[in-house]
Amino acid sequence: MRFSELSSYLERLEKTASRNQMTEILAEFLGKLSVDEVDKACYLVLGRLGPLYETVEFNLAEKMMIRVLAEAFGVDDKEAWQRYKGTGDLGVVAEQLRVSFGRSELRGGLSVEEVFAKLLEIAGAEGTGSQEVKVLKMAELLRSLGSLSNRYVTRIPLGQLRLGFSDVTLIDALSWVFKGDKSVSDEIRAKFNICPDIGLLAVKLRRKGLRDLKEVELAVGHPIRSALAERLPSAEKIVEKLGKFAVEPKVDGLRVQIHLSKSSKFKAQSSKSDNQNDLFGKESGIDPDVLVRIFSRNMADSTHMFPEIVVAAQKLPVESAILDGEAIAFNPDTEEFLPFQETMQRKRKYRVVEKSKKIPLKVFVFDILFLNGRSLLDESFVERRKGLEGVVRGGVIELIRHQVVSSQDKLRELFDLYISEGLEGVMCKKLDTPYQAGARNFDWIKYKRGTEGKGLPDTVDGLVLGYYAGRGQRAKFGVGAFLVGVYNSDSDIFETVAKVGTGLTDSQWEEFMKRVKGLQVKDRPKQYLIDKALTCDFWVRPGLVVEIDADEITRSPVHTAGRDLEVEEVRDSGMSLRFPRLVCFREKQLEEVTTAKEILAMYRMQKK
Ligand code: ATP
Repeated sequence: MRFSELSSYLERLEKTASRNQMTEILAEFLGKLSVDEVDKACYLVLGRLGPLYETVEFNLAEKMMIRVLAEAFGVDDKEAWQRYKGTGDLGVVAEQLRVSFGRSELRGGLSVEEVFAKLLEIAGAEGTGSQEVKVLKMAELLRSLGSLSNRYVTRIPLGQLRLGFSDVTLIDALSWVFKGDKSVSDEIRAKFNICPDIGLLAVKLRRKGLRDLKEVELAVGHPIRSALAERLPSAEKIVEKLGKFAVEPKVDGLRVQIHLSKSSKFKAQSSKSDNQNDLFGKESGIDPDVLVRIFSRNMADSTHMFPEIVVAAQKLPVESAILDGEAIAFNPDTEEFLPFQETMQRKRKYRVVEKSKKIPLKVFVFDILFLNGRSLLDESFVERRKGLEGVVRGGVIELIRHQVVSSQDKLRELFDLYISEGLEGVMCKKLDTPYQAGARNFDWIKYKRGTEGKGLPDTVDGLVLGYYAGRGQRAKFGVGAFLVGVYNSDSDIFETVAKVGTGLTDSQWEEFMKRVKGLQVKDRPKQYLIDKALTCDFWVRPGLVVEIDADEITRSPVHTAGRDLEVEEVRDSGMSLRFPRLVCFREKQLEEVTTAKEILAMYRMQKK
């Protein structure tokens, strides 16, 4: 496919707000692509150059893009800036400049694959003089494309493509291509949970349809979507729900998914493997022949942050494994766990080894998903735990404590014990279920300090959708309140759940403004479902996640959370948080935002 044709599809997608129409347009588009290009096209329409977990950084910010446009179309930087001020969108500026440049619409033009390869090359330029190389190559690329393509190709390196949908809508579109409806979306989504690479899944489907998709399996080196926990408000409810179950301490640190392979085949496959030694220097004790990858909860490759975990994992007595656990900072003298903020200091790019000595970590592993070449996902929790016990021997990587209980008294006793040790609470796990990648259900139930007797059984991780200008005292900050949304994973949209205007300190308001800077957009993003009564003065594109506490969840005539879930309790109304207040700003990804279904589950819990 020519890139110009892809651009026409992007234009159609940009013009529609209807989710169904988007899915249909995407299905028509996907149906026209060949096996060789379908993966690249999937990444491009999502504004990326690879799967979610392989973020390719362009390092091409707005200032540099201005230089690109000046270079490409023979204008000076000032003119490009002027136009940018007028339109607020460098994509549109590129499109306008391309038209004035003349010889506008090129016959034929570059293919999707060619544009993809060029963008990859631009992103990959490194070292001295690389900025200049990026500017020149990007300018050359823009010159060789038509005006509409300029609009979209300019937005990609800036992270501004944002057509208002995510992998979830693409999954529905793929189902449409093969069945003409959404009937195989669930099957594709189940594969996406263990192989979150939409491009790869599209290739498989394109090649042999659903038959090829069935072969998609868990693989070392590729993160899988973590299993997540539901909540219940009391020990009584947990025992009622689970009967006999396992209780583990709930450790408040960073989720780590550790992938390990001693096989040379894996080494050859892994593009990043060569620099494992370079990551931490020769003194680190790392064995260059044993591959370790550590992924965070949102599947980012965090290997470079944790040298001591890499060394410890390499020593495990296995050929290959994938472990799920939580890393927490501790004081080596007192053996006490440190608060979450201390652990967070280990999330860094620089001075990693130095910090690892000052703030050492321990990993408590609570699950094993793969062992010596075999997936354990379908094994029961009890069987997986047995597997884990044979692998983990203690030290930096330790087995999490574990007791099987069936009474409220025993559960409370363990809860009190772990709290007294400075832990966050307990995780209760069903004994006979498989590992459900990407699912949040009652197979795992979290029960945290401060939950019992509280109206709301957990805090909400919401997305900031926009904000309102400050009046009176707040005028000095430029913000008086902000609008918070939750994610509707069925429709791939964000729905409002709270307007937060109280409880922030002056410095938190200042921090709020700092964090929304760079995320502000002129128009309401299409992915937001907002009642007119809550229209914001300023819109914020998806990017800032906040943890919100509240007294309870109530039905609301103006908030949209859950409005289209089609359930009796919230028919014709949405749900909202009563007395919402900010707990903190979170370093979370969009995929981790609380969903409308979770809000509904918490709402139902209150009623019981
Ligand atoms: P979630 O991860 O469920 O979206 P969250 O990020 O708000 O929620 P919490 O609600 O505090 O975090 O708890 C869930 C997290 O607790 C898990 O994702 C995991 O990182 C961590 N955790 C700690 N101990 C355990 C354990 N024993 N078993 C499973 N997860 C644990």
